[in-house]
Amino acid sequence: MSNLDRQATLQVCGGRGFVVAEPVRELLSPRHVQLGESTEVRRLLPNLGRRMVGAWVFVDHYGPDDIADEPGMQVPPHPHMGLQTVSWLHEGEVLHRDSTGSLQTIRPRELGLMTSGRAISHSEESPKSHARFLHGAQLWVALPDADRNVEPHFQHHAALPQVTAPGLTATVMLGTLDGATSPGTTYTPLIGADLALTAGAEHRLPLDPEFEYAVLSMSGEAHVDGVPVLPGSMLYLGCGRTELPLRATSDAGLMLLGGEPFEEEIVMWWNFIGRSGDEIVQAREDWEKGSRFGEVHGYDGARLTAPELPATPLKPRGRVR
Ligand code: MN
Repeated sequence: MSNLDRQATLQVCGGRGFVVAEPVRELLSPRHVQLGESTEVRRLLPNLGRRMVGAWVFVDHYGPDDIADEPGMQVPPHPHMGLQTVSWLHEGEVLHRDSTGSLQTIRPRELGLMTSGRAISHSEESPKSHARFLHGAQLWVALPDADRNVEPHFQHHAALPQVTAPGLTATVMLGTLDGATSPGTTYTPLIGADLALTAGAEHRLPLDPEFEYAVLSMSGEAHVDGVPVLPGSMLYLGCGRTELPLRATSDAGLMLLGGEPFEEEIVMWWNFIGRSGDEIVQAREDWEKGSRFGEVHGYDGARLTAPELPATPLKPRGRVR
């Protein structure tokens, strides 16, 4: 998915200054963002109170939307730089095309992992014939400086490792949970796991005390470390935890996101992550003139144009919120 916000604002993120060393329970409210004409998403990251969780830098939750009589998701070709995107569905399907030639339908609880490296472009759409409901999350992972210029590539994994316990099925999207490791490529130590809980389930999930964590609720009623977390909101948990108590009062769908605190400061604007304002300006210019980001074939429609740059220069301004 693209950040379709026409008032794209500069985000300066990263650095230890943001990280809470101890366990905390900080409930993050979503910002409601309109994507195109018919889709509204709930944006949890970046959030007014928090920019990153490990290398996770962007979290949108959307749906469930009834798209029986609608085209559904229609995100035209757009560029990315310096990040990975993860498409994660609970219902429906998304057809992914990108400038490396990928053409892939992504279905519920399958991993669609796109590593932009230095430059990629892609489109995402609901297939013409699609399920009635569309429900999912779009997530971005910042690439560390050492790897941010890797060759762009796309990975699809329909079968992912699972950890099961009474009332819990955890599907490992990225990283390792309780000994189960995702085949998806990561560039910093991180975890992304889908947690399906049945009504009445109680479980203590093992965590890495060196990681910081957050839990996004996608559906149902669940308590995370005793805090009720409603669908479309996210609980930031800080670092220093060896386990996480979960309790579901109905069937519930959660997503555990975490990782080693991201040490580098980054500049994020529109669909780009860089280290300086100049890099972002150059990326925007390259996209607008049709160079560097390749071409997406087969999408029925025009590509996205970049929003205007903000009036203030794009430069890192320290660890501001
Ligand atoms: Mn995108």
